Amino acid sequence: MSRFWSDVVHRLTPYTPGEQVQIPGLVKLNTNENPYGPSPLALAAMREAAGDGLRKYPDPNGTALKDALAASHGLRREQVFVGNSSDEVLAHVFQSLLKHELPLLSPDISYSFYPTYCSLYGIALRTVPLNDRFQIDVADYDQPCGAVILANPNAPTGHPLSLASIERLLSLHPDRVVVIDEAYVDFGASSAATLIDRYDNLLVVQTFSKSRSLAGLRVGFALGHADLVAGLERVKNSFNCYPLSQVALAGAVAAVEDVAYFEQTRAAIIASRERLAADLTALGFEVLPSQANFVFARHPEHDAAALAAALRERAILVRHFRQPRIEQFLRISIGTDAECGKLVAALRTLVA
Ligand SMILES: *Cc1c(COP(=O)(O)O)cnc(C)c1O
Repeated sequence: MSRFWSDVVHRLTPYTPGEQVQIPGLVKLNTNENPYGPSPLALAAMREAAGDGLRKYPDPNGTALKDALAASHGLRREQVFVGNSSDEVLAHVFQSLLKHELPLLSPDISYSFYPTYCSLYGIALRTVPLNDRFQIDVADYDQPCGAVILANPNAPTGHPLSLASIERLLSLHPDRVVVIDEAYVDFGASSAATLIDRYDNLLVVQTFSKSRSLAGLRVGFALGHADLVAGLERVKNSFNCYPLSQVALAGAVAAVEDVAYFEQTRAAIIASRERLAADLTALGFEVLPSQANFVFARHPEHDAAALAAALRERAILVRHFRQPRIEQFLRISIGTDAECGKLVAALRTLVA
């Protein structure tokens, strides 16, 4: 608290990221990082880019990255926006596209950065409860609103929404922006990017942090109608004209182009997820069906906070949210099979 803070700063509730602790031998399954390294071709491209050219400013438009993303999604450059992490892209989205007289609709259980951006930008938020199976029911969004944002698959549940449901949502609100945050879409759900040419109110947001294993690089992007992208560019160029470094641009382009590595690592994570879900189920956990790189699970006889604390004593980190409806769940990121094995072994003794 300081008398120098503005009113907005007094009222903010900042987002709390998962811990980034340094413990030797730590099994870190709390922030949905990718257990496999980035593409070796992306690392080589970044080493190459980290040279004398750094004395100059990078391309303010990130053209090479926009072109790589446009090509991989069958879109035009004007339909692509790039930024320093999808969190930053989302911040620009909230400010430029989601602030209207009527409230923004979003699920009651979703990415907890959304309410934070609402408080930062003064956006009224109306949360829509997930149904009793913790799923989004699009019919619940048939109500007056200024815009809609949801994550697909949802976080932290991992539950995917079908493209048919997303189309229904887009048709319910043809004059409202509908943002689909696809941070985890590469782990099994269908991307709404294929609908962009048919719905000018659709904006898809993705990140390099999860499926591209580049959380440390901070690269995210949005795909949508050129007019939506133009609005984002106006905010971006009023905030930071060079959000992506030359190193980040080079690494991200190479990561997009290394399709083989992407396919191989995401397939490995999907296979590990199915094994982990089966192992947890065998231990008595209820595991929500996930299409993400994490599972969301609760045990009928063991308190989630106590389990998370006991795992932490064994140098295993998972995420627990002290939040109504989900306080008995643990969100567990998919690690390597060895890491998942250590988790399952620890849980076996804890729930025995
Ligand atoms: C991880 C995550 C993000 C943020 O990704 P960054 O690009 O690392 O900022 C955005 N949305 C959801 C739902 C996420 O889980």
